[in-house]
Amino acid sequence: MLTLSCPYCGVQCDETELAAGGEAHLKRYGPESSPEEFESYLFVRENPKGVHLERWRHAHGCGKWFHAARCTMTLEVFGTYPAQTLAPPQELVEKILAKRPGWTWREFGQSDMEGAQA
Ligand SMILES: [Zn+2]
Repeated sequence: MLTLSCPYCGVQCDETELAAGGEAHLKRYGPESSPEEFESYLFVRENPKGVHLERWRHAHGCGKWFHAARCTMTLEVFGTYPAQTLAPPQELVEKILAKRPGWTWREFGQSDMEGAQA
């Protein structure tokens, strides 16, 4: 059973209290975007075998959207964070990299650590 901690109200949520919202950090493009950019927004997804960043809504609680880092193979949850962010918190990325060295997801992951150490 999947259990996530809501970053807003702090409740440990059973999956029956949550609504899945697909992939996190999708980039939206403006009206001047190319057909390829719009297509990527609509259809291109990461779908990794490993740690994935996802959107969830505390549907039967506070009703707010949040993001979760979860492994699609083991269902291990690395953490949750508010949806009003452009990137996962650095401490969450470091927690994932400690258990999954070399992890990358879109522009997040190993390159963040290299930049932080430089
Ligand atoms: Zn909540």
